[in-house]
Amino acid sequence: MTTEFITRFAPSPTGRLHLGHIWSAMHGFDMSRAANGRFFLRIEDIDQGRCRPQFVDGIFEDLHWLGLDWDGDVVFQSDRSSAYADALDRLRAMDLVYRCWCSRAEISASAGAPQGDVGPTYPGTCKGRSSPTDSRPHCWRLDSAKAAVVAGPLIWREYGRGAIDVDPALFGDVVIARKDAETSYHLAVVVDDAAQGVSDVARGADLQNATHIHRLLQNLLGYKSPRYHHHGLIVGQDGVRLAKRKASPTIQSMRDAGVDPVGLMRGLRSGVFPVGFGLARG
Ligand code: GLU
Repeated sequence: MTTEFITRFAPSPTGRLHLGHIWSAMHGFDMSRAANGRFFLRIEDIDQGRCRPQFVDGIFEDLHWLGLDWDGDVVFQSDRSSAYADALDRLRAMDLVYRCWCSRAEISASAGAPQGDVGPTYPGTCKGRSSPTDSRPHCWRLDSAKAAVVAGPLIWREYGRGAIDVDPALFGDVVIARKDAETSYHLAVVVDDAAQGVSDVARGADLQNATHIHRLLQNLLGYKSPRYHHHGLIVGQDGVRLAKRKASPTIQSMRDAGVDPVGLMRGLRSGVFPVGFGLARG
């Protein structure tokens, strides 16, 4: 039996797309086309406080303009809460998650020092605190030490690098379901990649660390793990990556300025970036 080659682009509609998003979408699109596979579009809109419908329309418009058309129906994470609730139930049944009532301020006051882009890890204050009658809002956290024992040693397959050892404790006891949602970025991505049969994930190197927790969750939930291609990131003239810049030029602004979409995509595919953009070193 052969497995179908399926990639996806999974933007969050919290603003208009910039070149960094298109760079990522292009990798997924080109990989799927080269393999005669499928390329899906998934709108990651679980953060209802930050997502806006006009940005969803903007994503459709920009991808069409650049010829990055997707296959099948668009999946919206906001429609998938029951799938996330089921996955959370399964982790709960395995006793691998616990309730946490801590506020952000409490966590930053007591958490370990941030390490690179991983951020401070949760010190486990609520672990072992069983207060089912405490009705204050709470999130659910993964008991990463217990999860690591249940899963055993794990690897993921990275393009060009082979097997990467998983460090299940890299992020500590991550949030699996937020206070305001029945899920978190980590759980939703893992559940959806499995539900959509994604075989190959192309996404920015800034998400490589998240793959440690994604691979762990895939194992706990009995999902197949995709192969990963964490591609380099596009930076502006100042060397700062586009997602971190205050005002990165949007695809919409390029269109308004008369940029030729075919020329833009041809350039990107041969590693030639518009003036003022480049690939991050390292
Ligand atoms: N929604 C994430 C973002 O916009 C991407 C998630 C992923 O590709 O796994 O950065």
